[in-house]
Amino acid sequence: MTEQELEELRAGIRVIPREDHQVSRKNISDKALKVLYRLHNAGFEAYLVGGGVRDLSLGREPKDFDIATDARPEDVKDLFRNCRLIGRRFRLAHVHFGREIIEVATFRALHDPDADDNDGDVEIEDGRILRDNVYGTVEEDAFRRDFTINSLYYSIADFSVVDFANGLKDLEEGRVRLIGDPATRYREDPVRMLRAARFAAKLGFRIDEATGAPIPEMAELLDHVPQARLFDEVMKLLMAGAGAATFSILRQYGLFGHLFPQTEAVLGGDRGEVWDLFILRALENTDRRVNEDKPVTPAFLFAALLWPRVTERSEVLAADDSLSPAQALQEAIAEVVGQQLERVAIPKRFSVPMREIMLLQPRLERYQGKRARRLLSHPRFRAAYDFLLIRAAAGDAPQELADRWTAMQQGDGEAEKAPTGEDGAPKKRRRRRRRPRRNEAPETPE
Ligand code: ATP
Ligand code: MG
Repeated sequence: MTEQELEELRAGIRVIPREDHQVSRKNISDKALKVLYRLHNAGFEAYLVGGGVRDLSLGREPKDFDIATDARPEDVKDLFRNCRLIGRRFRLAHVHFGREIIEVATFRALHDPDADDNDGDVEIEDGRILRDNVYGTVEEDAFRRDFTINSLYYSIADFSVVDFANGLKDLEEGRVRLIGDPATRYREDPVRMLRAARFAAKLGFRIDEATGAPIPEMAELLDHVPQARLFDEVMKLLMAGAGAATFSILRQYGLFGHLFPQTEAVLGGDRGEVWDLFILRALENTDRRVNEDKPVTPAFLFAALLWPRVTERSEVLAADDSLSPAQALQEAIAEVVGQQLERVAIPKRFSVPMREIMLLQPRLERYQGKRARRLLSHPRFRAAYDFLLIRAAAGDAPQELADRWTAMQQGDGEAEKAPTGEDGAPKKRRRRRRRPRRNEAPETPE
């Protein structure tokens, strides 16, 4: 940031006294208040920051409470018995209260891109911030945050809100706007492009013109972000209750293709409309569950995101005479998942059930009688069935097939005996025994 930019930012700082803002202690968690007061009483500056102040200002319930202070991580550790220091790239204190964690970050300094800092506290490569552990003032801390709406500080000393970058006006007008020069800020950390999409979707805001303009061109910077960080980010993008809206914004700004390149490719293909609908339905289903506080699993969502490409690849592989449909599906899954992992890490505990959900689809299409009944108690049946419902809703599977499995779970004996054909008409002949197809994969999953 240039000295002039800094001067402009300083000139824009506003302090809103307690009586003129919405942030009230009765809406802040007791634990967060406890941490704020203890820091304050020990003589440190302490502010509630980030999403907590933003969401309270909007009258929404914050997801969590983050605190910023001039106390060093070691000072914080000395003040709280239940405190752990975490992170190398960005050192933080976590204060634990049972399941609730209050994150306490020490004010960070701004980066001088020309300074040759070799002491290891800051690491910058091609404009990218790799490590950020130089401490600074509250002002500096505020200016290095991403968006104006995330740069509001609630002071425990006098209960005022300090608005460092005109964030309250942007909150009022529904605008996601970066602090500083957008291209520079994306180069420092490309994940900020994803965060812009996330906040726009979550809050129903629009992305400010200057903030959005460089995104399509700079989206490829995401290709260099570590896969594990992208996994964490994808979780926040698609599993936080506004996944469907986020998906649309990600596509609109050319970001989605850098997270799921194979999916983006089939979305632009012949069956793009069906696949688009399918993914939207899956995301809406997840959003609904999240908003009803029902459990959701990334395995289901990743299965949905990869299914379109898996289907198209397995059709191509099955057309090659040497592969049975079951083999083609297995092969397609291996291939597509393998490529996906180069972009976004998927932990084993999710990738294993994700594969099962996909592998169960042809069984749901074929099984009848006793085998169908046995499938009902498969540990992954419920997820695979939900998946089938979404396929049917999008036109990727016959609705009658989905209905049959619905009926079967309600104990309808007729349903299990009368599988329907592609056209929805009951099949005329029922095969007693099904001869295994050549080279067919085992029926029970690993
Ligand atoms: P949420 O409601 O999702 O928790 P949040 O705004 O609190 O939203 P966090 O990811 O918890 O988001 O981050 C807390 C704060 O840290 C943000 O509000 C922002 O000020 C700052 N921040 C987080 N990530 C970045 C980043 N990549 N670049 C700059 N500032 C960031
Ligand atoms: Mg937060």
